[in-house]
Amino acid sequence: MNLAQHKKPYAYYQVERAIAKGVLIIPKTCELCSNRESIIPHHWNGYDYPLDVWFICRSCNNILRGRHDGTMSKDDILGVLNNYYPTHIVAKKYGVTTPLVTWRVRNGLFPGSRKLTDFFPNGPKTKYDPWFIPKDLIEVQV
Ligand SMILES: [Zn+2]
Repeated sequence: MNLAQHKKPYAYYQVERAIAKGVLIIPKTCELCSNRESIIPHHWNGYDYPLDVWFICRSCNNILRGRHDGTMSKDDILGVLNNYYPTHIVAKKYGVTTPLVTWRVRNGLFPGSRKLTDFFPNGPKTKYDPWFIPKDLIEVQV
């Protein structure tokens, strides 16, 4: 366990307390994709800033997992999301699973798709590098 992971439980405890006191308010929708399901706090700038969180859905949090070093601001991510859908949104639109959409991306069915690390080459590298699919492509195909 590294130092950052050590701080994680305390950061979540601080968030819980702030919610209970009304200092933090959980929005009804994900701050990134407007999903209404399973909203959780994401410590984008690290656990040293326990209350500096984005409330995002579990799917968006999966995309950003391991990326807590502040190199991707919310504006940066929203800039990408203005033009691209993450795979979980495309899956929702098609009524299929996210792994199936990822499989289709890997097999070239969504040309122009890009990995998160393409947008943020200086960001932290994690094992999971999610895909983003051009919005135009989806609007045409659906
Ligand atoms: Zn989301």
